[in-house]
Formats: sequence, C-alpha cells, structure tokens
Amino acid sequence: MCDSWHGAQCRTARGTIIGSGYHSIVKTKHYSSKMRLRPRILTRLVALAVIATTCAGALVPLPAAAQGLPTLGDSASDTLSPLMERKLGEEIMRDIRHDPDYLDDAPVLEYLNAFGSSLVAAQPQARGEAGYDFFFFAVRDPTLNAFALPGGFIAVHSALVLAAQNESELASVMAHEIGHVAQRHIARMLGQQKQDALIPLAAILLGVLASRGSHAGDAPAALVMGGQGLALQRQLKFSRDAEREADRVGLQILQAAHFDSSGMVAFFGRMQKASRGYTDAAPAYLRSHPLTTERIADIDARIRDQPHVSRPDNLAFHLIQARLRVLQDGSAQGLREAGEWFDKQLQQKTRVQTAAAKYGLALIALKQGATANAQALLAEARMASLAPPDVIMTSLAIDIALATKPGTGMPQQAQTALRQADAARAQFPLSRGIARQYGQALIAAARYQEAVDYLRDQAQLYRAEPQVQQVLAEAYAAQGKQALQHIALAESYALNGSLPSALEQLTIARRASDATFYDQAIIDARERELQTRWREVLKEQGKKPAPQP
Ligand SMILES: [Zn+2]
Repeated sequence: MCDSWHGAQCRTARGTIIGSGYHSIVKTKHYSSKMRLRPRILTRLVALAVIATTCAGALVPLPAAAQGLPTLGDSASDTLSPLMERKLGEEIMRDIRHDPDYLDDAPVLEYLNAFGSSLVAAQPQARGEAGYDFFFFAVRDPTLNAFALPGGFIAVHSALVLAAQNESELASVMAHEIGHVAQRHIARMLGQQKQDALIPLAAILLGVLASRGSHAGDAPAALVMGGQGLALQRQLKFSRDAEREADRVGLQILQAAHFDSSGMVAFFGRMQKASRGYTDAAPAYLRSHPLTTERIADIDARIRDQPHVSRPDNLAFHLIQARLRVLQDGSAQGLREAGEWFDKQLQQKTRVQTAAAKYGLALIALKQGATANAQALLAEARMASLAPPDVIMTSLAIDIALATKPGTGMPQQAQTALRQADAARAQFPLSRGIARQYGQALIAAARYQEAVDYLRDQAQLYRAEPQVQQVLAEAYAAQGKQALQHIALAESYALNGSLPSALEQLTIARRASDATFYDQAIIDARERELQTRWREVLKEQGKKPAPQP
C-alpha cells in the first residue's frame, strides 16, 4: 500500500511499468472509461523517485529498530535539513495544488486534517525531530495509495479513503505515512545530495514533466528513469527497512490514538488482494517483491497480544466517503454511478449508511442543479443521522441555499443562506470552509460592504489562505471596484505560488480606471516584493528572468 512519494510509478502508453518505487504493493494506474484521470500527480512523483534514485548512493543505513520512537543518530551532514526538506515539500505542493486532481475541497481537507492531527497528537513524538506541521490532502485517483512528500505533506488517494471499511483502517494508512515523516526517511535518503542542488533538481524535473504534451505519453519520464535500475535496486533494500519502520511507528500511533490496530492487518491484506486484480505488470512485480506478506505477518505478530479495541466510526467518516465518491468523478456517468452506489447503500438500512447515502445523493442533486431535490435529500440525511448538526452537512446546506436561484419558488434563499452561514460560523468557529461560505452568503445577499469588511479581517487573520482572497475579489467585483478586485486576485495567486499570474493581475489593477493614488502605492509595493520573489525562484531554477511586463 502506502507508496510513499518515492514509491511512484509510471506507465508508458502501452501500460508497462517503466519505473516503480519499492513499496509493498504496486498499483498500476487504471484508466477506466469513467475515470479519465490525468496521471500528472503520478508523473510528478516519478520525478521525485528520480530525485531519490539519483542520490541512492547517499543512502544512510537505518538504525536498528529500537523500543519506542528512536531518536535518529543522524549528524547534520547526512540528512537533509528540516528547513530544506520543508522547502522542497512546499515546492512540490505548490505544483500539486494547481493540479486538477488535487481535491481543494474544504470539508474533505478539514476532515483529513482533523483526523490526521488527532493521530499525531496521540503520539506527539511522531512529529519527529523536525517538528513539522503536517498537512493532509486527497487526490482524485482510482488506485489504492497514499504517499508522503518531503516536509510533512501527506496525500491519500480518493479510492483509498473509499476502500477503508472503518476509521481504524484509514488511520492505519495515515499513521504509516506519518511514520515515514517521523523517521525522516525522505530526508535521510536525500541526505548527502548537495542541499542547494535539490530545489533546482526538483524544479527542472517538474518542468520537464509539466511541459509534456498530452499525447507524449510518459516518454520523458521514461528517459529520465532509464539507467536508474541499479540505483533502484539499491534502494529496495533501504525501503524494506523503511517500510517496516513506518509500520512500527504507525502501529504505535494507532494504539496511542485508541484505534483498532487489527485494522492495519485487515486493510493491508485487502489491498494486497485487490492488487491481484490488476492484470498487467503488477503481479510480476508482486511476485518478486513479497514484501507485503512479510509486513502483514510482522504487524500481525506485533498486535497479537494487544487487546481488541472496539471503536464506533464517526458519522463524518461516512459522510466524507460519500462526498469523495461524488467528487472523484464529476462526469455525468460518474455521478450516475455514484447515485447507483448510494441507492444500493440505502438498502442496507442502517442509520449511518442511510444518512451517508442520502447526503451523497443530495450532493449529486446539487451538482445536477436540482437544488429543491438536494434540499429534500439533505433533510432526509439529517433526519436519518439522529445526530446533532455537523459541519459537513451544514456546509452542504449552505451550498444548496447559495446555489438556489431566486424565482425557483424560493426567493428568500439568499437570506436563508446568510442566516444558515451566520449560525454555522458561530457553531463551527474552526471551520475555514464555513467562514468563506459566510463571506459568499453576504455577497449573495447583496451586503457587499459587510462582505468586504469581513473578508478583509479574515485575510488578515489567515494570511496563507488564497481562497479568502478569491472570495474577497468576488465581493469587490460585486461592488464594481476593479482595482481592488485585481489586487485581491493577485494576492490569491501569490499565495498559491503563481507569481507570474499574480504580477499580471497587479498590471491589470494598475490600469483599472478606478485605481486611486493609494491603490497605486499598494500595487507598486506589492509588485516590487513579488518581482523580487520571482527572481529568487528563477535563480533557484537556474533560469533567467523573463522581461517584465
Ligand atoms: Zn510506506
């Protein structure tokens, strides 16, 4: 399972694996007719695999497994510094956030991060010596996988979340990935690579992959991978140790967080079975890498004497599964298939399953523009759940109210949305998604100045949140304030790491007829700042700056 970032793989147009990592189960990217997913994130990971393989000679042996979380005896010279590792991770994340398969969805992100944080909090040592703030996210991908990037960024594939039968199973995968981060496997692998050479290397590889035409297949990646076989082999040894170590740390996290650790054995075992369903090159790979069987046996032995933990799943887990089932494929056929799934789920007639299925059907109805139907289904979901209002359903209720056009029999929808969002932000003060929905509701209710004031406050409080700047830009647009709209958009792009787009927005803002003297001063200052940053990025990438617009 977990193929960590280094365990990436890549297929040629004919579907042959041309390079693969060394994790336990290798999944080939499976393109069904209903999921025409761009293998972009995957190829990016191939680039990372290349980074790893190019410095395979620098591998540092892992210390023997100790009791508890071992303190790594690494000297500063043989591991990548935490700062550098984080920087590398952020560099890659900046790229991933632009990928259409990155699920930039507030309920999903909030659930995964609350869930992941609870795992880290249960075993604070898992933060590792680097003390990273973890960030968990989901990508649209039909294969069962999860991976850790440098610096504490952890991804789970949508299919993996859907395949988990309970929260303990999901926790087992995430805890394993946290284990990789805690043990600084990536830093150790990249260790002796000259540190200042890493970022340019990542940038060049990402650049090569990003510039691929859509019909080019994975040829450039294949070229890069070529000749790395030996290095890859040398890494296999390392990875098995790393895998075992991540399993061990993961297990400690699971136990500390009171999850059922047998979930790890069950899930890993099921994933191994599922991998046999893949008919191309995967089985051969598995035959030569019987790692997972060993790993499962290893974990099984560790938990044999552990008392069984019975733990009811949170409703949120089932709601997020339903949400991901809808979000993973937004095509008409994808929505139809998700709908059929929920219809089947309804026949199980358990309280939680019914609530989740109705929630999923409500989300489909919203996507199809059937807002009245969505509202009715969501009311049924709430009724079935018998639970106090939760943030995931509340957020959908606001989305439905916001999407309902006046004149569809519900002229008061903007007011309803605002009332709901206002109550929700008091009830769920930590939800960033709800906070932004409140901003959107103010705009929908034509209370533009209140929206601007509120969103400017939010932007001050949450300076790293590009989405707030986006909604702020909408509020300015509603007011007809062009210069301010484009300044806010520039900030949003800058926070997303798209510096050229940010600079372009500042140029548009300067030319706006309503740009005041004060606005011009802000634009000038921001432009100077962003240009300096952009020059630094280019310098790191070894490119000359393009002529300024
Ligand atoms: Zn792993």
